[in-house]
Parts: sequence; C-alpha cells; structure tokens
Amino acid sequence: MTKRVFNFNPGPSTLPLNVLKKLQKDLLSFENTGMSIMEISHRSPEYDKVHNEAINLTKEIMGLDDTYKVLFVGGGASTQFAYIPMNFLSGPKVGAYVDTGTWSTKAIKEASILGENVHIAASSKDDGFTYIPTDLNYPRDAAYLHITTNNTIKGTQFHRLPATGDVPLIADMSSDILSHQIDFSQFSMIYAGAQKNLGPAGVTMIVLKENMLDKITEGLPTMIDYRTHVTKNSLFNTAPTLPIYIVKLVLEWIKEQGGLAAVEATNRAKKDVVYSMLDANSDYFTTPVKKDSRSWMNVVFRLPSEELEQKLVAEAKSAGFIGLKGHRSVGGIRVSLYNAMTLEGAKKVTDFIMNFRKNN
Ligand SMILES: *Cc1c(COP(=O)(O)O)cnc(C)c1O
Repeated sequence: MTKRVFNFNPGPSTLPLNVLKKLQKDLLSFENTGMSIMEISHRSPEYDKVHNEAINLTKEIMGLDDTYKVLFVGGGASTQFAYIPMNFLSGPKVGAYVDTGTWSTKAIKEASILGENVHIAASSKDDGFTYIPTDLNYPRDAAYLHITTNNTIKGTQFHRLPATGDVPLIADMSSDILSHQIDFSQFSMIYAGAQKNLGPAGVTMIVLKENMLDKITEGLPTMIDYRTHVTKNSLFNTAPTLPIYIVKLVLEWIKEQGGLAAVEATNRAKKDVVYSMLDANSDYFTTPVKKDSRSWMNVVFRLPSEELEQKLVAEAKSAGFIGLKGHRSVGGIRVSLYNAMTLEGAKKVTDFIMNFRKNN
C-alpha cells in the first residue's frame, strides 16, 4: 500500500482517497473502451454520459432547477474575473464588489482594467481584511454584486450572505463550494476553480441563472460569451475531459455520504477541533480573524515568532502533515480543511500542533 500523507495544501489540494482509487481503476480502460477517459473524444457517447452526469449531479447537490445552467470551462477562476464584467457590465450600470482581500481585489482589478464602472460596496482593507464587512452600499440598479464567499488566503468566510433583492448576486466560491448547506438559488452566478473542493486544477465550474443570459453584452468573442457555453453544453471546444471526469467522481462521493448536510457536519466538526485548540491556547497562538468571520476551510494563525512558525512547518512535514505554511503575503500557519480532508486528519494535526506548543 502506497503511503499517503495528511495533505493540508491550500490548492491544488487533497482529493478523496476513494476518488483516486476509482480513477486508478478506470485509467487503462474506461467502461470497457480499452482507452482511458483522456484518450476518447469529447463527443463520444461514453464521455457525453460523464459530462451530463457531472452537470446533473451539480444541480442535484445544490438543489437547483433547470433555470440554472452548469458550465465547465478552462482558464481558472481568474479568467472569470475578466469575463464577468465583459459579459454583464456595459452602459451606465456599475458592477459592485465587496473587497475582502487578495482574490476579490484581483476581481476588482480586472473589471477596472476594462475601464468598466466599478463600485466598491464595502471593504475590510482598513483592518487587514480580517473580517467580512456587513454594511454594504451599492446602487439599487447595479449590474451585479460580486462577493468572494471564502477568502482562502486571509482565512475569512461569509456566514451570512447579503440579501441583494433585484441586484444579481455573483460569487467566487473557489474555496468553499459544496462545503456546507446554503440556498444556492439566491445567486445569479457562482463560479469556482475546481482545485480546492471539487477536483483537480484545469476546470472551472460556472452555475449561471438563465435570466442572466438576456443581459450579456453583444459583440463579444465567441469563447468569452457565456451563451456559447450554454448553447453548446460546454462542448463548443474540447472540454477539459479528465478534470470534469474527476469532478464527477467527487460529486458522486458527496452524494454517497448524504449530500451537503453530511459534508457540512464533518466540516463543522473539523473546524471546531482546530479553532477550539487555538482558543484554549490563545496565550501562545494568535488568530487574526474576527470570530464571526472565521473560515471553516482555511484556518490561519500565528505563533509567537517566525522562527517557531518555520520550525512547526518543518517538523509537521517530517511527521506527515503537509502544506501548513501560510500564504507568503500573510505568513504564519494555514490549516486548509477542504471537503476531502478527514476529521481524523483534522484531529491528528491539532494534536501535533498542541504537542509542538508543549515542547516549544
Ligand atoms: C484559488 C482561488 C482563485 C484562483 O483560482 P484559479 O483557478 O487559479 O484562477 C480564485 N478565487 C479564490 C477564492 C481562490 O481560492
């Protein structure tokens, strides 16, 4: 049996063991074709089945009806930062953004590069992005309000979503998609790079409410216009077939556990283990994020010195806990607890960190 570590990498990140085993089993001959899924046409009936199952499972798990379209495209979430204003922002209306640091700041930058009407509805920059702003201000006729539901680097997460009324709510959910139960129907668009909670890098999931299609700017290049991918069922060009196949396996894995209720229960237990330990030892660990804004997916904290942080990361690695180093922009430690991380992994890393504290 190959040795597997406890993988806390922030993205690309750990995948469920059962998914990897299924992938391995199917690799040389997918459904008796004598070929791997990578080697068959994106227009073959075998692939078509995988593709549509991934789409239908997404809607089923999210509890969405046919007024929502599920797309799988390349380019990562970062490409969507530009495509969103290109598609939905023209004329006098503004695109409103909540700036919660790093990724949302990048989304704002892309809209600004296009010279579009960008409006900052709120920002937590004044406090180093350590909280989720609740007081939002934007025009009632804004083209959309864009939020980043989980801030992978800063370690914050929206726990109450803004009620936007008639203003379409658009969310970058790259690092917390399908991690807990929410009413997905309050969103007009959701997008997520797959490599944190959904599968491997290489595919981006987009969930788009049908009525958004009427608002698209005319004259866009074909690949940029969302209508292309909706009409062609994400098969206008060669889809990233292997990543989509793995996303389908991850969606099946979520469904087998009992869907988002079960996933949420595990994720709640995982983050409680880690945060409880940090809070009980607050004389040693500093948690910069305001309690009501704490991320369930990315727990960030500091030790008394940078030397101790480096020592912890190095010792953790030798002990089989990988990827605990905080992002270079914030430093410290980051424990990423995406869906595929087990409760056992969360408990073991917490014990490890506690022991480190005792010895240092
Ligand atoms: C990782 C991440 C991104 C970037 O995704 P790419 O697929 O690399 O473009 C964007 N937003 C959030 C919230 C992320 O965590």
